[in-house]
Amino acid sequence: MTKRSIAVPAFILAVLVFISLLPAATSPSTPLEKKVKAMTDKLTPELIAIRDDIHCHPELGLDLPRTSAIVADYFRKLGLEVRTGYAKSGVLGILKGGKPGPVTAMRGDMDALPITEETDLPFASKDKAIVEGRETGVMHACGHDIHTTMLLGVAAVLASVKADIPGTIVFVAQPGEECCGGASLMIEDGAFRDIVPSAFFAYHVDDTLKAGKVGYTSGFMTANVDGFTLEIKSEGCHGASPWSCVDPIVVGAQVVTALQTIVSREINVQNNTVITVGSFHSGTAPNIIPRSAKLEATVRNYGEDQRQILKDKISRLVKGICEAAGAPFDLAYEFGTPSVYNDPALVRDALATAEHVLGSKTALVEQKPEMGGEDFSFFGTIAPAVMLNLGVVPPDREATAVHSPTFMADEAGIPIGVNLMADIILDHQVKAAKTKTAK
Ligand SMILES: [Zn+2]
Ligand SMILES: [Zn+2]
Repeated sequence: MTKRSIAVPAFILAVLVFISLLPAATSPSTPLEKKVKAMTDKLTPELIAIRDDIHCHPELGLDLPRTSAIVADYFRKLGLEVRTGYAKSGVLGILKGGKPGPVTAMRGDMDALPITEETDLPFASKDKAIVEGRETGVMHACGHDIHTTMLLGVAAVLASVKADIPGTIVFVAQPGEECCGGASLMIEDGAFRDIVPSAFFAYHVDDTLKAGKVGYTSGFMTANVDGFTLEIKSEGCHGASPWSCVDPIVVGAQVVTALQTIVSREINVQNNTVITVGSFHSGTAPNIIPRSAKLEATVRNYGEDQRQILKDKISRLVKGICEAAGAPFDLAYEFGTPSVYNDPALVRDALATAEHVLGSKTALVEQKPEMGGEDFSFFGTIAPAVMLNLGVVPPDREATAVHSPTFMADEAGIPIGVNLMADIILDHQVKAAKTKTAK
């Protein structure tokens, strides 16, 4: 008896210590936050089932008939106004709150990748598609199944408290993030022509953070994804008489080498920049000087000023080298996806909400900008925007990389992400509505 009465408190103590070491659970404090938490808890099994289903049936690019139908049906059942057909499969779900306030948007991307899944998940994708003439597996290897699910989850949670929401929330389900500029196409197709958000929020899953952690970057988060194609031309001649024509391979090699000096000698070291010539094709035989050499490069940096500076420097260098060699050339330079810029004021507000919702400062992880790209940036051209990173590394497993066939995301991240984003949007609406009234 005595032994037992000592053992029980020790056991309880051990459990409490264990619980305190678990990833941050959400901890509501206001009555509205309590409602949000209760609704999130209630919805979690349904959301996990939706995620498993979307994961099992991934779709590629802009053509996502199954996924976009699931999203549109779900929004309709919630009583949202549903608009479809932007960028082929894009869907808007519009939730009108019960009080006056601003329009704010949350974005979730829906497309998968042409990768054959190699996980042992019971709902692993077995689907196949033909991409560029070759059969490939299709897999949600970038976590967009989780993004779509969280978009539905936040819509459901906020719909359940809509009387308390100032303003309007637009839920944006986007196709074609991985391949096809889906975000800019949705804008071109008029998704925000008559309903213009004053802020955009989004998540991306993070393959370096454990479930329960949330990563953030204030300012630039991802890079401009620019690039160029360069064709160096020649009349072509015999390899034994190279004085008879321009050798486009030699000229191309000089261009590749000289490009490295732009990054190392001409760009301030503080301005992260990458120039990678990833493709160089020329020639058919050792004794023929070919008629052309074709180079393709990706150019990464942050911000509008920097991308123009890089374009000017690369164009100058290519022109100088080709002209010095007497080689005609075609340079096609392309500005692709711009950098994601996380608005510092929106980040500060989101962190304030996150700190008390997650109940622990340690759940928040400040991160450095990446050189990868993300087309959420196009929404940032409409209004200030924030993309947070949601930890999805399972507690008992090694991290697996996004875009790999073994990528696995822990579903424990879904309710944490839904609960947090619902509170971030609610706090934003309340604050923005008050600021508007004060003006
Ligand atoms: Zn991706
Ligand atoms: Zn992605």
